[in-house]
Amino acid sequence: MKPVKLGIIGCGIAARELHWPALQKLKDKFEIIAVCNHTEAKAKSYSELVGGAPYVLDYRALLHNPEVEAVDIILPIHLNFEVTRAALVAGKHVLVEKPLAAQLAQAKKLVADEKKFPQVKMVAENFRYRSTFFRVKTMLDSGAIGVPYFVFWNVCFKVDERNKYSHTDWRIHHQYPGGFLTDGGVHNIAALRFWFGDIIAGHAVTRSVNRAIGELDTMSLQFRTQTNVAGVLNLFFSADGHFENRIIILGATGSLIIESNTIRLKRTGADDLVETIADDGGYMAEFDDFYAAIRTGRQPVSTFSQAYRDLEIILTALKSATMDKKI
Ligand code: NAP
Repeated sequence: MKPVKLGIIGCGIAARELHWPALQKLKDKFEIIAVCNHTEAKAKSYSELVGGAPYVLDYRALLHNPEVEAVDIILPIHLNFEVTRAALVAGKHVLVEKPLAAQLAQAKKLVADEKKFPQVKMVAENFRYRSTFFRVKTMLDSGAIGVPYFVFWNVCFKVDERNKYSHTDWRIHHQYPGGFLTDGGVHNIAALRFWFGDIIAGHAVTRSVNRAIGELDTMSLQFRTQTNVAGVLNLFFSADGHFENRIIILGATGSLIIESNTIRLKRTGADDLVETIADDGGYMAEFDDFYAAIRTGRQPVSTFSQAYRDLEIILTALKSATMDKKI
């Protein structure tokens, strides 16, 4: 099968550090034939990075290029709706970075577009493609810890001026609810839904610890899934002195502890079983899926509808925090 002729829209951090390393390894599947960034210096340097594909400053010009079969949209979140729509109207296959849109109403319109447009419509939610998370799912499904009943996920991280993402002005002056909680939180929701089915109830408390990084930076969400797993998702992006990204899953006959690409299976009376998984963050598998969907006509794993639900859950959780119930 021929490589897909790809246009890249947005030449920032994710384009450079996450998408390009994957695309570089998939040259038999994708040929970058056009790139776009509204500021020329970034457009030019990205064009050089990817081997000299011509660049434009206006995404509409890239969409008018009939040679471009598919686009990879890696823009500030508030532009996802407008550019995704325009790309679909222009007849391109679309891979757009998460979250699907800045507002739920926009995301809903894009979900409606899923039926209207015949091209591939996919969201780059890499947590749906991480091999570590697939392994966790296999272990859960094979009964490694018996029936799972609780999950804790702690993300304690400090986003300050040393963090590259705090230098993207659109994140700090975000035009979408939740700031870093929404930007990052859709990832965790996608993984939780993959393991335990949909999240059907919950309540959150939120805080703003450091206004300099946006409206909100701290959320603790307590929830229940359709498979009756309860859990707590703690997203703390202004944690000082304590850094952690750990998932603990409790089952009737054991526990799983997941940190980075390492999974530890713990059972009373048995030695821990530790596996470290080869995992690039899911970026290659994500592009593999996009390619297969384009060339075979099958649905990708990470659809607009899936991403819509991830966003809806985060935004509903944020809203719940404004409606404290007396206890
Ligand atoms: P970024 O570094 O700010 O990149 C966005 C790029 O878009 C910048 O180069 C920006 O140029 C350019 N741009 C802005 N407006 C434009 C326009 N109208 N036309 C053309 N180009 C325009 O942000 P990022 O960190 O790469 O994030 C981009 C997307 O990737 C977001 O959706 C984010 O959620 C997602 N992301 C995903 C992951 C993941 O693991 N899946 C990780 C990081 C980010 P200027 O900077 O010159 O304005």
